[in-house]
Amino acid sequence: PVSNGGMFCRLCLLVQDAYGMFSEVQLQSLSSTDDIEQYCRRWEGKFCCLAGMKILQRTTRGRALGLFSLIDSLWPPVVPVKVPGQSQDAEMMTTNLPPPSFCYILTVQSGEIHVEVDAEEQISNLYQPPAVHGLKEILRIDGCNERCSFWAQVLYLRLQTKHSVPIDQRENLLFVTDSTLQNVVHGIPKVVAVSVTASCVLSTEIIEALSVASRLVFFKDALWGNGEIICVERTVLLLQKPLLCSAAGADLSELTGPVRLDELDSTTQANSVCALRGTVVGVNERTAFSWPTCDRCGNGKLELCPQDRELLYCNQCSEVVTTPVLKMQLEVFLSCPSRSQSTVKVKVRHEISFRLFVLLTMLLFLQTYEVQSVLGKEVGLLNCYVHSVTSHPNCVALEEIVLL
Ligand SMILES: [Zn+2]
Repeated sequence: PVSNGGMFCRLCLLVQDAYGMFSEVQLQSLSSTDDIEQYCRRWEGKFCCLAGMKILQRTTRGRALGLFSLIDSLWPPVVPVKVPGQSQDAEMMTTNLPPPSFCYILTVQSGEIHVEVDAEEQISNLYQPPAVHGLKEILRIDGCNERCSFWAQVLYLRLQTKHSVPIDQRENLLFVTDSTLQNVVHGIPKVVAVSVTASCVLSTEIIEALSVASRLVFFKDALWGNGEIICVERTVLLLQKPLLCSAAGADLSELTGPVRLDELDSTTQANSVCALRGTVVGVNERTAFSWPTCDRCGNGKLELCPQDRELLYCNQCSEVVTTPVLKMQLEVFLSCPSRSQSTVKVKVRHEISFRLFVLLTMLLFLQTYEVQSVLGKEVGLLNCYVHSVTSHPNCVALEEIVLL
């Protein structure tokens, strides 16, 4: 597992000895560009010999809830464990053993790391590979702080970039689905948000992969509780399927056909994604604006060229932008039959809104336009992110999005 505290990340191993005792070994610091997958392949499930370790802390269940939620997911051991103080042969069946109440945090004495893994060695029989569940099963788990592992298709990534939020409190949202959610007709959402807190490492590799296309991501040891899936300390996100994992009765078939979102209705909540259809009943002309962007890198903050003040210049490409792409944004009010009591306000963007292209062209390009001519136009289905839902006034504020 990997843990971190805001900006500082560290590679950690959870180890278990023949007595069933768990310890966490803190290794070197990690950067977001490190290949976590490589460490998993090298170490997970293998016997290791730890030398030159120092006990940093003896910690208890009450003081390390996150660590113990991981330990609990691996309890009881799958094979009999040795009993302290008894002969080598005495082994105890594990079914009635109480879960551990404490464990040790170990660190390396000097700068050197003495973790020896025999690459030829077979996988330890103490090792319990992640049990993979379908999202539908996870949403039905009772209890809180349950660790869970699942494969999911990431449809939309919403990175928290607000500078007003401290880095260690920033939270990114991954909107995910799988076949168990898509195939359900009623009662549970078709897409769920997975919150990635600052204490979980979202590697550069994953962010880059998701900036290109929708990807299947393996979420290992995420936390389920209070109706939310959260990635915290010791949760690992991987693009590859782990070598060893067990399908805990999960239907892990891949998605077939186009992904469907839940349609906007009376149950839609803030910070979710939904699809909506409706009729344009108003346009907020004051919020309409357009700006030029770089046609090479998409940079939306172009400057005037120092040499020639008539040209635009891109700082990121360090080049003059001769054919900028014009982007536009506008807020429209829709009447939606699925949420007829609410004012539905949608921020639409020209470069992604093909359905509203005509509308925006009329509003922004023509010298004389008439709002009347776009009122009453049918719109749908638009994929949107829900910014807020309020009851007084009864209003839903959304932003059009493009799914990966
Ligand atoms: Zn550029």
